[in-house]
Amino acid sequence: MDVTLDTIANLAKRRGFVFPSSEIYGGIRSAYDYGPVGVEMLRNVKNEWWRSMVQEREDVVGVDTAIIQSRQVWVASGHEAVFTDPLVECRECNSRWRLDKLDDPDRCPACGGRDTFTEPRQFNLMFKTHMGPVEDDENLVYLRPETAQGIFINFENVRRTSRLKLPFGIAQVGKSFRNEITPGQFVFRTREFEQMEMEYFCRPEEAQKWFDYWVETRFRWYVDLGMTETHLRIRPHDADELSHYSAATVDIEYEFPWGWDELEGVANRTDYDLRQHSAHSGVDLRYFDQDTGERFFPYVIEPAAGATRTMFAFLIDAYHTEEVRGETRVVLRLHHRLAPYKLAVLPLSKRPELVEPAAKIAQDLRKRWMLDFDVTQSIGRRYRRQDEIGTPYCITFDFDSIEDHAVTVRDRDTMQQDRVSIDRLVEYLEPRLA
Ligand code: ATP
Repeated sequence: MDVTLDTIANLAKRRGFVFPSSEIYGGIRSAYDYGPVGVEMLRNVKNEWWRSMVQEREDVVGVDTAIIQSRQVWVASGHEAVFTDPLVECRECNSRWRLDKLDDPDRCPACGGRDTFTEPRQFNLMFKTHMGPVEDDENLVYLRPETAQGIFINFENVRRTSRLKLPFGIAQVGKSFRNEITPGQFVFRTREFEQMEMEYFCRPEEAQKWFDYWVETRFRWYVDLGMTETHLRIRPHDADELSHYSAATVDIEYEFPWGWDELEGVANRTDYDLRQHSAHSGVDLRYFDQDTGERFFPYVIEPAAGATRTMFAFLIDAYHTEEVRGETRVVLRLHHRLAPYKLAVLPLSKRPELVEPAAKIAQDLRKRWMLDFDVTQSIGRRYRRQDEIGTPYCITFDFDSIEDHAVTVRDRDTMQQDRVSIDRLVEYLEPRLA
């Protein structure tokens, strides 16, 4: 792997993917803002997930549920009691660490102290706030730490209105919040992040079959969008790693610059959540099978990915450098569906006889594709900028274009240039950007 965390963080900041949040006030650790280029890529990641998980399937529907839900949701789900990480504090330097993520549990990574840690205490990761003007316990609410519970509490609403029969899934993309003890590695672990989760409800006896199916399907999704297969692996959780609700979990891991780490978890949540919500709410959330007359709690297979973390992994994986005529070229070989801009339209010079017709071409193409229009600096520098943000095709309008009504289309990866007639541009680009 030829890329470090700093390389990606620098590129992200320099080119408008991701900025450290609140930077003008000195920054707030672990929060990030997505810039003009980053917001496009993040949307593309989420849209591709939605396309494969919802749009292209007859057995999955989507929802978008509230971030702040009844506190009872988190009591029932078990999060209020056990959504915790083990926290230790160094007695020497007062730094705080998540014990299960330390390489050496007896050594402080900040000051190097040995046996300086306090006894671990369980730290609850949910952000607390108050609903309404009175700040008392009655009005305590949490920011959701996962999108899944919004799905479980709507199980019956969705089943009834969508008329789906088992097996079926409910998908959601949205923000989650965890007061992580040790955020870090850029956007890998932040306190505010976006998740892409789907709860797939099935008959209990079919849970293992669907579990295997979803592990495989989700692994393929990354590969189909261009992630290097050898940088991906599947790792089953050990029994002592399992979440409180899970009978089995595998992680889909990516080889990040610091080593293998989680991209997505696929869990068999059994009937835990529906049972808990039935018991706590008094509403019967069992499924009624009209064919057999049975009433039972379905099992749930959950593929849970992070949108922001996934975007980060795609950025790392796409990052390449190569020598071109004695110079180093940085190129993001992003799948065109993930690329922030599909096209850049570049008049060769700033002269109006080039800029005006080029702007007209850009205006036509914008209706179909997200594109960048750039007239600043030399053409070489503009190509480099587009390479660095992964734009698949650059369209250059030059002096000949005025006469021959054709433009040069440059391919990001091969750098090969084709001369294409302006009235055939859409026809040329459509199959390449499908
Ligand atoms: P970890 O053990 O690393 O804290 P987790 O196993 O608790 O994570 P899940 O609850 O399985 O994570 O969350 C599903 C997905 O959500 C993760 O695979 C990851 O992509 C994303 N995610 C979880 N926590 C964060 C975070 N703090 N920042 C960014 N993404 C996150």
